[in-house]
Amino acid sequence: MSTQCWTGWPPGSVRRPERAGPRATPMDEQALINRFFLRAGPASQVMTEAPRGVVLGIGDDAAVVRPPPGCDLVVATDAIFEGTHFPAGMPPAAVGHRALAVNLSDLAAMGADPLWCSLALSLPEVEADWLGEFARGFFALAGRCKVTLIGGDTVRGPLGACVTVHGCVRPGTAVLRSGAQPGDGIWVTGHPGEAVAGRRLLAPGAQPPDDATLQLQQRFLYPEPRLAAGRALAGLASAMLDVSDGLADDLGKLMAASGAGAEMEVERLPLSPAHLLLAADAAVTDALTGGDDYELLFTLAPDREAELAARAAAWSVPVTRIGRVIAGDGVRWRHQGRPLPVPDTTFRHFR
Ligand code: ADP
Ligand code: MG
Repeated sequence: MSTQCWTGWPPGSVRRPERAGPRATPMDEQALINRFFLRAGPASQVMTEAPRGVVLGIGDDAAVVRPPPGCDLVVATDAIFEGTHFPAGMPPAAVGHRALAVNLSDLAAMGADPLWCSLALSLPEVEADWLGEFARGFFALAGRCKVTLIGGDTVRGPLGACVTVHGCVRPGTAVLRSGAQPGDGIWVTGHPGEAVAGRRLLAPGAQPPDDATLQLQQRFLYPEPRLAAGRALAGLASAMLDVSDGLADDLGKLMAASGAGAEMEVERLPLSPAHLLLAADAAVTDALTGGDDYELLFTLAPDREAELAARAAAWSVPVTRIGRVIAGDGVRWRHQGRPLPVPDTTFRHFR
């Protein structure tokens, strides 16, 4: 989950929609569910086929689902709360997107295919405009990734959302954190560091929104779960996780779970042209410690690199080898032949 403890959205940037005039008409819980989540058929409107395996969806005490025969179910839950995982005043469509995206990213990191999700929403008050935008962001991603909302809960409380996703993999093919072997290459998708740079660029007085700025801001506001890449890596990668807390920190988790060490080359980091254009001095630090990337970090036996190249040709995201697994423990980063100390800047909820 996200690396930063937010204290607030910088003044002058994106804000909650102003409520002109009196409060929105009071809406009870059932009306709210009906309006925003039950009839929010966007998911099924976007999907061309019937939702897979949903015997009974929203509306009863529980949903009934029928997993595809002979699959392993993969289940993940992540909660996001205002002030901790996203800044106060973040556009509600981006909050809806993020609530689902961080969960789909966990499924991607297991090599799983998403099926269903549930949503527990905590709201300080009912603002119809906010909820409409939240649902739009949520269902746009749900429709694109063919994941069906099958239930949830709606309560009054601090602004936040907890999503549980269910996915499937062929039996025994889920990719774990624990499988890295000495000699494996260490690979990452996309451009780690863009998201944290984009978050900085949402601050007031930052660059005028040229194409590069918009690209980085988008990477923070609308992280893209790497589902196609994750699926293609099932049965190929030896170990995998998704990068949410920063590449350096998450790599440490991958190596600790595998009981191995890593030698990393900073020169190989896939820094994006937009990132280098707008924040060249910070780019390496952003990539190593920024967080919120939701890219896939995985290890791969050297004799499977040709297979990776063949599969990755179909991905919309680049993939780069940035280091290798060694026997022992610890992660060593080297820059121009010299050891580069990487500070532990990861936000932790509890210390
Ligand atoms: P119960 O009191 O039995 O928990 P609720 O009134 O909380 O039932 O929910 C009624 C139905 O609406 C259930 O099927 C539940 O899964 C669904 N639901 C509640 N909140 C949400 C939500 N935010 N998104 C999707 N479905 C929801
Ligand atoms: Mg009930």
